[in-house]
Amino acid sequence: MNQNSIWLKEKEKLEFPKLQEDKIVDILIIGGGLSGFSILYELLNTKKTVCLVERNKIGEGVTSKSTAKLNYLQGIVYSKIKKEVGEESAKIYLESQIEGINLVKERVKKHNIDCELEEVTSFLIGSEKDKKNIEEEYLFLKEQNRDVKKEGNTLSIKDSYTFHPLKYLEGLKQIVKEKKIDVYENTIITKLEKTKDGYCCKVNDEIKIKAKQVILACHYPFMLLPFFLPVRTYIEKSYVMAKKTKNSKKETSITTYPNILSKRFYKDYEITLSGSHNICNKLNEKENFEKLTKNEKIEYLWSNEDIMTSDHLPFIGFIDENLLLATGYNTWGMATSQIAGVIIKDLLEKKANKYQKVFAPYRSMNLGKMKQYGLNVLSNIKSFTENKLKKEKSWYPKNLTFSIHNGKTIAKLKEDDKEYIVYTACPHVGCTLIFNEIEKTWDCPCHASRFNKEGECIKGPSAYNIKVMDSLLDQNKLAPEKDV
Ligand SMILES: Cc1cc2nc3c(=O)[nH]c(=O)nc-3n(C[C@H](O)[C@H](O)[C@H](O)COP(=O)(O)OP(=O)(O)OC[C@H]3O[C@@H](n4cnc5c(N)ncnc54)[C@H](O)[C@@H]3O)c2cc1C
Repeated sequence: MNQNSIWLKEKEKLEFPKLQEDKIVDILIIGGGLSGFSILYELLNTKKTVCLVERNKIGEGVTSKSTAKLNYLQGIVYSKIKKEVGEESAKIYLESQIEGINLVKERVKKHNIDCELEEVTSFLIGSEKDKKNIEEEYLFLKEQNRDVKKEGNTLSIKDSYTFHPLKYLEGLKQIVKEKKIDVYENTIITKLEKTKDGYCCKVNDEIKIKAKQVILACHYPFMLLPFFLPVRTYIEKSYVMAKKTKNSKKETSITTYPNILSKRFYKDYEITLSGSHNICNKLNEKENFEKLTKNEKIEYLWSNEDIMTSDHLPFIGFIDENLLLATGYNTWGMATSQIAGVIIKDLLEKKANKYQKVFAPYRSMNLGKMKQYGLNVLSNIKSFTENKLKKEKSWYPKNLTFSIHNGKTIAKLKEDDKEYIVYTACPHVGCTLIFNEIEKTWDCPCHASRFNKEGECIKGPSAYNIKVMDSLLDQNKLAPEKDV
């Protein structure tokens, strides 16, 4: 079994260099996923100088682990936004999803991008207890003139799509390369410092990029925004598997919250997403995977996280006059990331945009109306404290041991005659990391940073590694750890 996303099996073709020297630009985009590249695409003809930096390889973040449905039937969403935020916001969100899907279609056609874009019928399957919610969702979509059908507690639409997210991104990469726009891979921004005319961004705490405006398209931002993201979001983790099928269909389906089961097909594979949970809960990753994989002939198995916002609307817009953000897509980022490009371009050009107000990151939120989200957000504190107190997990394998080194807890994993020694605190805000025995990663249960067993950070927000340098280790001084 391949413990990675099915989309990564066909590796990307175009590569970009690592930034080696200081740079001055008008606009810096941080993050090379679908958000970063859709923003870059929109800025192709700007007279300003633009540069995009990606910490790893383009597209290998959350985008590479999605199920890649382009679909506006997303669960009980519009009727919920209508109740909790207002009808206008629900309409705007629906419009954004349809426009985002159309943007993908237009670009694929215009640039002849071979990304297996396919029209499919999509189903939203509700249970008996969802009867009222399904009816409300149906009525809302009907009022907005969408061609939606209802049979029992199931809704269906025909104008939805599936595609290969990395092949689509490859098409955008090609266009950007032809335009000779500066893109750098393996270039991590570790610090942002405000200057009088913009920002000074540090790469690996060394090289500087000075930019008048900076766009955070890096999923969960690496710098702290204490009264913003932790209060208004939580992170949802889901598990995805792909197995061979003889019954591939031109359709997708999703069930309603909380036991979400989402399906699509890709060639002769059936792709299933399930087991979604707030990242703070269900820390036993081995159990989470095993529950889902019983008796299945799985070829690909992976997990992925996305940012859920309290009012189910994305965060796209200004954080301050020179800093912009595009994130919080509530697991529907394929279309929303395309819209992010359009919004950010308009904002940079000081043009009005119809989505600007509703998606503004610092919009006011009536958190009292969003009880479930409030509870989910509170779990952040639970995971931080509970997990910090209990570092040794009974479910961990025997070849994983913990010790104290210079006052810090370190973990030692023995595998194939090798030892992998890492710090167990996430460098982002110090949450205790969880060992994910299936994917062999150290995962942060607070903000979803991930590190490989060697201790290299493979996913933010952490900008730093957890590897314990051999030179710092004096094996004799390792004291066994006690639970506090
Ligand atoms: C299980 C799952 C299934 C999903 N399925 C769907 C679906 O079917 N349809 C749909 O519409 N959406 C889906 N989504 C949501 C969608 O995948 C995401 O919303 C979208 O891919 C986010 O794109 P992004 O570019 O914002 O983030 P990313 O793809 O994560 O890109 C951000 C990039 O920024 C880089 N970065 C981070 N920090 C730094 C730094 N300090 N310096 C430089 N670079 C940095 C990262 O390495 C990364 O490559 C799913 C999400 C999940 C979790």
